[in-house]
Amino acid sequence: MSVLLFTEGGDELSLQALTLAESLGGDVRAVELAGPYAPAAWAAAIVEAAAGADAIVGPGSDRGNEVLAHVAARLDLPFAANVTEVRGDELTRIRWGGTLLEEARLQTTPKLLTAAPFAYAASNSPLRAETLPVEPGDAPCVVDHVAPDTGGKVSLADAKVVVSGGRGVGSAEGFAILEELAGLLDAAVGCSRVVTSAGWRPHSDQVGQTGTKVSPDLYIACGISGATQHIAGCKGAKKLLAINADREATIFAHADYAVVGDLHEIVPAITAELRKARGA
Ligand SMILES: Cc1cc2nc3c(=O)[nH]c(=O)nc-3n(C[C@H](O)[C@H](O)[C@H](O)COP(=O)(O)OP(=O)(O)OC[C@H]3O[C@@H](n4cnc5c(N)ncnc54)[C@H](O)[C@@H]3O)c2cc1C
Repeated sequence: MSVLLFTEGGDELSLQALTLAESLGGDVRAVELAGPYAPAAWAAAIVEAAAGADAIVGPGSDRGNEVLAHVAARLDLPFAANVTEVRGDELTRIRWGGTLLEEARLQTTPKLLTAAPFAYAASNSPLRAETLPVEPGDAPCVVDHVAPDTGGKVSLADAKVVVSGGRGVGSAEGFAILEELAGLLDAAVGCSRVVTSAGWRPHSDQVGQTGTKVSPDLYIACGISGATQHIAGCKGAKKLLAINADREATIFAHADYAVVGDLHEIVPAITAELRKARGA
C-alpha cells in the first residue's frame, strides 16, 4: 500500500490526516504545495505526484476537502470526505454536519479520503513533507487575504478562550456581560446561529457547522442548547464549560464543567470572582 498525503504544514488537522494515512499501512509520502492557493492547479499537481498510489489522503479542513474534491473530479473517482475509520474497503464517515455516521464501501483505486477533524489523534511521527511548487497559470487562485477587523481584540479562530452565547442570552444588549468576562480572560466572544439570525451579533461571531470552527483551551457556552451543528464548531475545544438553566440540555453531554442556572446571574458572578482573585 502506498499513500500520498496532502498536508497543510504541521498543523493539527494535517497531523490527524497523517494518523489516518498511517492506519492504512504501507509507505506514506507527504507533500505540501507552495504558491498561491489554487485548488484546481493544486489538484493537478497532486494527481501527478500520486501516480501509482493506492490512496490519496488529506486533512479534513476546508482546503483539504476542496483540493481532494478537485482531485476526485480530475480522476473521475468517488471521494470519501470526513472519514473516521477505514477497514479495508469499508469505512465510516461523518455526514450532514455530524448528524449521521455513514458506513460506506470504497473499492476504487486510489482511495480518496480526508480525515474528519478530531476523529483521529494527531500523529507523533515526524511529518516530513516534500514541497511541490505550483504555478496556477490560468487556474483560479487566491490573490490576497483581507484580515477581518477585530478592533485590536483576539480573533475567534485564534482565541485561547471563547465566551459564547446562545438564545439564552436574550438580546444583543445581553451580550454585555459576556463581553465583560471575555475582556478579563483575553477571550473572543462567539455565539450560536440563533443569535446571528436574530441580528444580535454579526455572522463572523458564529460558531458551528456554518460558522467558525474553534479549538480554544476553554469554550464557555452560555445559554446554548448544544445542537449538533453548534457542537461541530466547538468540539475541538480542550475543555468546555456549559452554563444552562435546563439541567437536561444536550450541551451538558459535551461539557467538562457544568453549571445549571441563569447565565445572567452566573456570568457576572464568575466575573466578580475573577476581579476579586486579581485584586481589581
Ligand atoms: C444546516 C444547518 C446549519 C446550522 N449551522 C449552525 C451553526 O453553524 N451554528 C449554530 O450554533 N447553529 C447552527 N444551526 C442551528 C442549530 O440547529 C440550532 O438551532 C442552534 O445552534 C440553537 O441555538 P441556541 O443553542 O442558541 O438556541 P436554543 O436551541 O434555543 O437553546 C437555548 C438554550 O438556552 C438555555 N437558556 C435559556 N435561558 C437561559 C438562561 N437565562 N440562562 C442559562 N441558559 C438559558 C435553554 O435552556 C436552551 O438550552 C444550523 C442548523 C442547520 C439546519
